[in-house]
Amino acid sequence: MADTPGFSQLDFLELGVEQLSTCFREFRELAEGCKFRGCTHLHEPNCKVRQAVDDGTIAAGRYEHYVQFYEEMKDKKRRY
Ligand SMILES: [Zn+2]
Repeated sequence: MADTPGFSQLDFLELGVEQLSTCFREFRELAEGCKFRGCTHLHEPNCKVRQAVDDGTIAAGRYEHYVQFYEEMKDKKRRY
């Protein structure tokens, strides 16, 4: 968790999935260019965040973190 300063994993889990991408500041600006509002940046076509990961604007490690948190949050929601 060394590269997510300012909040713990627990904080993330208390947020909604919709808020997750706003915690990744570099995602937020890019997300405005995504084709779909509420884009999860996982499987949507024309996703600017994934494009940025592909071209190196966003570090692949950051994106992996994002996906990891997203999956964990989804798991939690399903369980309760
Ligand atoms: Zn997106």
